[in-house]
Amino acid sequence: MSILAGNPEELIRITNLKKSFNVVRRKGLGIEHKKLHAVNDVSFSISASQSFGIVGESGSGKSTLGRLIFGLERPTAGTIHYGGMEVNGLSEDGLHAYWRDIQIVFQDPFSSLNPRMRIGDALSEPLKNFLGMDRHARSVRADELLDLVGLPKRTIKHYPHELSGGQRQRVAIAAALAVNPKIIIADEAVSALDVSVQAQIINLLSDLRRQLGLTYIFVTHDLNLCAYFCDRIAVLYLGQIMEICEADKLLSEPRHPYTQALISAIPSVNTENRRERTILGGEIPSPLDPPTGCPFQPRCPYAIPRCKEQRPRLEETGESHLVACHVVADELNSIKERS
Ligand code: SF4
Repeated sequence: MSILAGNPEELIRITNLKKSFNVVRRKGLGIEHKKLHAVNDVSFSISASQSFGIVGESGSGKSTLGRLIFGLERPTAGTIHYGGMEVNGLSEDGLHAYWRDIQIVFQDPFSSLNPRMRIGDALSEPLKNFLGMDRHARSVRADELLDLVGLPKRTIKHYPHELSGGQRQRVAIAAALAVNPKIIIADEAVSALDVSVQAQIINLLSDLRRQLGLTYIFVTHDLNLCAYFCDRIAVLYLGQIMEICEADKLLSEPRHPYTQALISAIPSVNTENRRERTILGGEIPSPLDPPTGCPFQPRCPYAIPRCKEQRPRLEETGESHLVACHVVADELNSIKERS
């Protein structure tokens, strides 16, 4: 069954997406040229109004994937379709039109806010560039946007450094909303904030989703947060999807050994829900020297000889629940044979 099948409201379709970078590094007295496979043959689709999580540790390729979907990077291979249109084939004008529908919010709002520009001007810019609004209309809309993200009107007079981290992130969200996008990519958008501020921003994003019917692509290293905020989650490891399913199911029935280990590490205040923690041996390998076969095999407690030789395919293991693991696939096959 196709990964993308059974999804009539599909908004974004990603097929066999790859992104590699050429890296030059020192080796002894010389240098060596390597390829870094940041995103390695990734396929999934996102429905309209869905909150889709992409979760992974540092080096998993999650941010590169977000940048590819936004069109900031061109893929090495594979395609991204948005509403039937291929994103990587877009001209500059085409990308400009695409960015009216999709916007991105980064971890550090300083990267998207000009420190010498007042907030009112920062909000006014996309209204002028993308929507061609006149000065009065821009001023009215800037007030509306600030209201939408829970900031007072007087914020327009401030510079970014005069605001708190949470307020700056609200401004970044307001700037992303300026063009009335359908999709927002939140790339570690709350990771740098204190836990209490994080909760406020997550609640704001949830309210905006209800109010505006937004679709989110939520890129994060925090599985707990991802499961709280998202409907569906893809777990990424060394640029490959290990498991993809509904958020509830991922938490209650994780099937991939890597997901199981991640979930076992989530602290629980409820003693009944406490799982036995799986401690993973070793570090995540360098994407410059990835292991052969399954990327998780050097750390996997269930690895079999085949895991070193053959990359497992992402296969359907239940309703819309896909897992890339030889052992899980073998178990399912033997259950099917017995029944
Ligand atoms: Fe572990 Fe093998 Fe499954 Fe990879 S394919 S997760 S190494 S059992």
